[in-house]
Amino acid sequence: MYTISKQFHFSASHQLSNLPAEHPCARLHGHNYIVEIELQSATLDAYGFVRDYNDLDALKAFIDNTLDHRHLNDVLGHENTTAENLAKFIYDWAKPKWSEVTAVRVSETPKTWACYQPDTRSG
Ligand SMILES: [Zn+2]
Repeated sequence: MYTISKQFHFSASHQLSNLPAEHPCARLHGHNYIVEIELQSATLDAYGFVRDYNDLDALKAFIDNTLDHRHLNDVLGHENTTAENLAKFIYDWAKPKWSEVTAVRVSETPKTWACYQPDTRSG
């Protein structure tokens, strides 16, 4: 199995309004987010790629147009705009475009990452 990944960056605000008021994430704040998309394939294309990184420019455009310098509560349409839910949001956008997508990771701080990948054990 071959695995590739590519990182993207954006800045946005959010507010986890469902948390207790004393929780710092319940206040309006922002992050410089890092998004990492992972693609896997058992075979390579004629050029020796899992997928040409240039194909992923569409994800950069989606991030720039939809997430960058936005309020994520407005974009996702709910109050649970955690890195976990953001990873799932981006995965659900990317998977129909590129079947090789296996996971999306989102970082809010240098020490934290959240990952969404479908549970392949079921079914
Ligand atoms: Zn936050």
